[in-house]
Amino acid sequence: MSRTSVVQLGVALLLSGATCLAQAPGALEPRILPAAVKPGPAVMPYVKVPAGSVVLTHVRVIDGTGQPGQSDRSVVLAEGRIVQILDATAPLPADARVLDLSGRTVLPGIVGMHDHLFYIGRPDLDAAGTSEPPLMVPEMAFTAPRLYLANGVTTLRTTGSVEPDTDLNLKQQIDAGKIPGPHLDVTGPYLEGPGSPFVQMHELRDAEDTRRTVAFWADRGVTSFKAYMYITRAELKAAIDEAHRHGLKITGHLCAVTYREAAALGIDDLEHGFFVNTEFDPGKKPDVCTDSDGDDTLAAMDPQGDAAKSLIADLVSHHVAVTSTLPVFEQGVAGHAPLWPRAMAVLTPEAREAYLYLRNRTSSASAEQRARRAQTFQHGLALERAFVAAGGLLIAGPDPTGNGGVIPGFGDLREIELLVEAGFSPEQAVRIASLNGAIYLGLQSRIGSIAPGKDADLLVVKGDPSRTITDIENVELVFKDGVGYDPAALLRSVRGRYGEY
Ligand SMILES: [Zn+2]
Repeated sequence: MSRTSVVQLGVALLLSGATCLAQAPGALEPRILPAAVKPGPAVMPYVKVPAGSVVLTHVRVIDGTGQPGQSDRSVVLAEGRIVQILDATAPLPADARVLDLSGRTVLPGIVGMHDHLFYIGRPDLDAAGTSEPPLMVPEMAFTAPRLYLANGVTTLRTTGSVEPDTDLNLKQQIDAGKIPGPHLDVTGPYLEGPGSPFVQMHELRDAEDTRRTVAFWADRGVTSFKAYMYITRAELKAAIDEAHRHGLKITGHLCAVTYREAAALGIDDLEHGFFVNTEFDPGKKPDVCTDSDGDDTLAAMDPQGDAAKSLIADLVSHHVAVTSTLPVFEQGVAGHAPLWPRAMAVLTPEAREAYLYLRNRTSSASAEQRARRAQTFQHGLALERAFVAAGGLLIAGPDPTGNGGVIPGFGDLREIELLVEAGFSPEQAVRIASLNGAIYLGLQSRIGSIAPGKDADLLVVKGDPSRTITDIENVELVFKDGVGYDPAALLRSVRGRYGEY
């Protein structure tokens, strides 16, 4: 789960005192959402509806703002943008290709905010859940971008990289129309201190090493950063200051540093909802990660109690966003929803076996353990609701690592279902997974909701998720920059490969 996330770079960085120009806010827009180009020959097999004047008619629209859906609409697209949303009885542009999508719902493309491009390998995993060191996270450069796009994720943040150059090259090739995939906010390598089980991560030596690491990767072109579990306060401070100097945001999956400490230092976002705050873990020492990893703090925190209220008020007043990653925590709950057949089909046989071992192990935990996990999960759900109720910006992503039970794209849809389980309305859940992420990225004038003038980044699902949330799984068509992609073709191309490459 969360500690199964990842890592970094490895390397010998540079010591050149490279100077970097601080970027003006807004400078990220052309980098994350560059002008669209025509899909090239390797992408064309996945295109179902070429860009042009297109009308999606007789659809239900859930627009991403959190407002109730509107039925029987026409969504008019042209030149990669959304032009109009009309009543389906209104006259349509004469030259448009009209798709009658009765019985379907159109939603904004998902903005996935914890959407890794790797898998977690557990060498020699056995049925008892034991594997051998080192823990590795093989890069899924082929499968992950396709899995995201096939499931309606049109923009994502990688939220920690193990092969930052690969991720940057992938982004460039996707943007050039050479391979299919979403828009990427490439996060730099994990900023991690010594002690991590992940063998691919660079171990930060001190604050100065942290500053140089951030400067190096900012110059290479990453557009965000992520601090990790063993980073200290001094190193985190250096990372935050250097990232901000480059006009970039930084998030953290923290452990040695508590949520309040990170908020005071100026962090922009905290990963994993309220699941990894170590503030009240027994024996917590400054700058040292706990064994409990925040679990004890969450178990003890009454979501309606004073400690929760005070923490949430602190985060909101510091404008710290929180990223909900419920699918990865759901894996720890006995009897949780199994993977859908469509999702199982993309796993390698080894990944499927690992998933089934670990799923079985979760369900055969002691009654006491199962009860505690169920309870902490409920606390996590309730705290995310309380954070939003207090005015906090909740964003979302599945964290596809763990045991194979969380898969790129499929996990993003499962996250929306779990937000509904947490008590959000379907429309609010969609907003958390789309517009809120766009707001965090400063890209809300371009993406995140369905409105005239915005990019034609959309997904079309069969059914009505506002009545039956699981209808969100029925993705039939995904538009990115006005080009309609075929989920079935994308999924066929990665069948049996997730976990391999
Ligand atoms: Zn992660």
